[in-house]
Amino acid sequence: MSSVVITARGEQRLRTGHPWIYRADVSDVDASGGDIVEVIGPRRRTLGHALFSDRSQIPIRMLVRGDAPFDASMLRPRLERAIQFRDTLALDATAYRLVHGEADLLPSLVIDKYDSYLVLQALSQGMDRLLPSVTAWLTEILSPAGILARNDPKVRTLEGLEQTVEVLAGSVPEAVLVREGPIEYEVDLRKGQKTGLFLDQRENREAAARYAHGRLLDCFSYHGGFALRLAGLCSSVEAIDISADAVARIEANAVRNRVGNLTTREANVFDELRRLEKAGERYDTIVLDPPAFAKNKASVPNALAGYKEINLRAMRLLTPGGYLVTCSCSYNVLEDMFAEVLHEASVDSHTPVTIVERRSQGRDHPVLVGAPETHYLKCFILRRVE
Ligand code: SAH
Repeated sequence: MSSVVITARGEQRLRTGHPWIYRADVSDVDASGGDIVEVIGPRRRTLGHALFSDRSQIPIRMLVRGDAPFDASMLRPRLERAIQFRDTLALDATAYRLVHGEADLLPSLVIDKYDSYLVLQALSQGMDRLLPSVTAWLTEILSPAGILARNDPKVRTLEGLEQTVEVLAGSVPEAVLVREGPIEYEVDLRKGQKTGLFLDQRENREAAARYAHGRLLDCFSYHGGFALRLAGLCSSVEAIDISADAVARIEANAVRNRVGNLTTREANVFDELRRLEKAGERYDTIVLDPPAFAKNKASVPNALAGYKEINLRAMRLLTPGGYLVTCSCSYNVLEDMFAEVLHEASVDSHTPVTIVERRSQGRDHPVLVGAPETHYLKCFILRRVE
């Protein structure tokens, strides 16, 4: 069997529970990219088995620990357990995540369910090689109408993998209709962002519905996830996105769901918040759900400045008693860093705010304890006190 030897520091890292070993902690390789490898410690002890990549900065993603033998078929029960867990959540939606990579002990594998279709992503060489088995198991377990590989994320290029979108089983139509709570969406699984929708925000949209009222501004709206869910609770809704395609989708979704109090604007939120402030506008509820500003560690300082800017301006636009639902999906920006940004924005904008809820991604996107990267979404619901 293929094998890699890791350093004492790598072994120490595994002891903290983290499933990844970085390139600098690999001392010897007898394997090709995509292999399942035996991971050997500096004192020649077998530490476990892992997916191996010969290109990535993360060459080793642990599958199992200990010295027992391992083969790929042992991943099938993990797939079944991941799917069963989502069944127990009784989610009020027909679209949700079935497999959340490392947190389901299926590293670098994402599987989302959209009604009777599955969309998957394999984000490492090892998982890419396992896709035929994963497709066969999914077909046996769930009999989906179709399985689509959305293997077009940029991270695949870091693995030396090509970016492709292809149907792996059955057939997948141009548009799929799904429901999340009371709202129906038409989704383009081939071209939509991520696997089509931002499924990780479902529970935050529900949480926001506990407070939303009056005039609502939904910034970075994409297909209108927050705007549509909250429209029935608010007097008026303005949804902003920089993408013309997204704005067209929000409008189509508004018609589909008979939402009549919603207007859209194709604009840059940074400019728009400044303009609204100058114009003396006020809102009772504001949602900020930007894309990940910090895609890597080096971009964290700029990202923090960006988060501070939009939060500071949003706080100024809030009426007393108003709510700010503010999110960061950059895993490099840890929750405490984001909380500190909100603190600074509150001080600099002279806006006293309280934390009403401190939230994360939905329960179908679980966080693996010991792997902080799996806790990527932070969502604070703040209330302007006066
Ligand atoms: N809130 C959405 C998801 C937002 S994803 C939901 O609940 O589904 C982030 C969105 O921000 C994308 O649609 C992207 O087009 C948009 N975006 C990125 N930069 C922007 C900017 N500077 N101004 C406005 N929209 C922006």
